[in-house]
Amino acid sequence: MNQISFKAKSISIIVIGSGLGGLSAAIRLAYAGYDVTVYEKNPTPGGKARSIEQSGFRFDAGPSLITMPFVINELFESVGENPVDWLTLNKLTNLCRYFYQDGTVLNAYSDREKFAVEIEANTTEKRDALYKYLEYCKTIYDLTADIFLFKDLYSAKTYSNFKAFKTLLKLPKIDSFRTMNNANRSFFNDERIIQLFNRYATYNGSDPYKCPATLNIISHVEYSIGGYYASGGMYSLTDALYRLALKKGVKFRFNTNVEKIITHGNNVKGIITGGSEILSDGVISNADVYSTYGKLLNDDKSSAARKYNKLEPSSSAHVFYWGVNIASHKLETHNILFSGDYKKEFEEIFDKKVYPADPTIYIYISSKFSQGDAPSGKENWFVMINAPNCASSNAKVQMSKEGIKQVILSKIKVLTGYDIRDKIETESIMRPQDIEEQTGSFGGSIYGISSNSRNAAFLRQQNMSKQYKGLYFTGGSAHPGGGIPLVILSGKIAAGKIINSM
Ligand SMILES: Cc1cc2nc3c(=O)[nH]c(=O)nc-3n(C[C@H](O)[C@H](O)[C@H](O)COP(=O)(O)OP(=O)(O)OC[C@H]3O[C@@H](n4cnc5c(N)ncnc54)[C@H](O)[C@@H]3O)c2cc1C
Repeated sequence: MNQISFKAKSISIIVIGSGLGGLSAAIRLAYAGYDVTVYEKNPTPGGKARSIEQSGFRFDAGPSLITMPFVINELFESVGENPVDWLTLNKLTNLCRYFYQDGTVLNAYSDREKFAVEIEANTTEKRDALYKYLEYCKTIYDLTADIFLFKDLYSAKTYSNFKAFKTLLKLPKIDSFRTMNNANRSFFNDERIIQLFNRYATYNGSDPYKCPATLNIISHVEYSIGGYYASGGMYSLTDALYRLALKKGVKFRFNTNVEKIITHGNNVKGIITGGSEILSDGVISNADVYSTYGKLLNDDKSSAARKYNKLEPSSSAHVFYWGVNIASHKLETHNILFSGDYKKEFEEIFDKKVYPADPTIYIYISSKFSQGDAPSGKENWFVMINAPNCASSNAKVQMSKEGIKQVILSKIKVLTGYDIRDKIETESIMRPQDIEEQTGSFGGSIYGISSNSRNAAFLRQQNMSKQYKGLYFTGGSAHPGGGIPLVILSGKIAAGKIINSM
């Protein structure tokens, strides 16, 4: 693993936001000798990856599944630490239990052979179809990960090695001209398996009927590299990175909203918070790119701001956090209750911008592996549906909170047999507008811009601003995109840019 090179001089860097991308950049820079201060408007670190406690139950507020664990390990190793001293990551044996409207229940085992047997026993697909498909997904990963995920997409250096040259030669193999759905239909005939693999578009807030099949890389990440959980729940990751940042000398200012980024001409000079100016040599924005331009820079005119403002935000989510008096033996840690008409669901989310009438429901129960997250004999249910981002005005036409709840409860009863209407002891809710308010994400988008267009990867904000000298970006709305491993990589690339230029 690359060790970070040290700076002798003291250069001050301000990080706006303590999301996982902001923490990743702050840790690396502090270790390299920079004077780093993180300003966070919330009282606790983590942004979307924060924790919620209510009446004896604990919930991970946002992310629940860890992929590409080597990205997390690399962060610890790059600053001279052994990851196992900080965090325990465990591989899931059953990635997810899928419930279909026709009564099929399918376990997506991480053991490929076992999963293939499960598919052959419960659907019309043969196991070879799965093997062929996962090989195809691996090819996409092998060809694209280095350029599109691990490196700065905009640096000439990224393209000057043999691997990049190979990718350029094999461009058709990255399958960017078909949609994910069309590609998946060419491998499978059974609608249940097509739906299962189409679901991976939602891992970056996109629509499988529009996004390029290149995103089938995500299936490789989950089935071949593995899905993981952190002992103690996802917040253990946030907490470990926060403690690591403190150890490396990062200073934190919580409950401190940054109002403006100070610019002289096109040079960034610091920030304004509470009406006071705080000067620094560089600023990293872990805030959403859209609000960085619009609110923090007051810029809707520069070419970068205008370009970004035209892009489609990714989808959002509506989450119920339910403390339930039930021991659900028929459910796994991760569960999906599929909708009957997946195409219609995405049309509702992305085109009509309304809540789906028949939503796919995701249930995550961390108390299955972290007993302290719920009182004995009870469980903490994180129940999520994909929802439209609320950025555009026509997205405001939504089902009432009670309406959504009733749809979800009935569907849980029909598909799993559990009637939890009288078993919910505590409840809190996170709607798209709450995600926007709590983390600053435009319209509550979970993953920055959507990848519904073929060139989305090239449209994301670069980690070093071309427009403003001294401004850098990390987090889900910047390169390489949303999701835990990618935002940690965005922090790595942004920190690397600073180390190379200051
Ligand atoms: C419901 C949900 C489920 C998800 N599930 C998964 C999953 O299973 N696996 C996965 O890998 N990813 C998942 N994700 C995505 C993942 O959580 C995010 O991509 C990642 O955590 C975002 O990190 P970030 O660095 O972009 O920062 P964010 O989490 O967006 O945090 C940004 C921080 O900046 C702060 N901030 C913003 N503006 C200001 C300002 N002006 N002044 C001060 N502070 C400011 C905010 O308060 C916030 O703390 C999920 C997200 C959600 C919401």
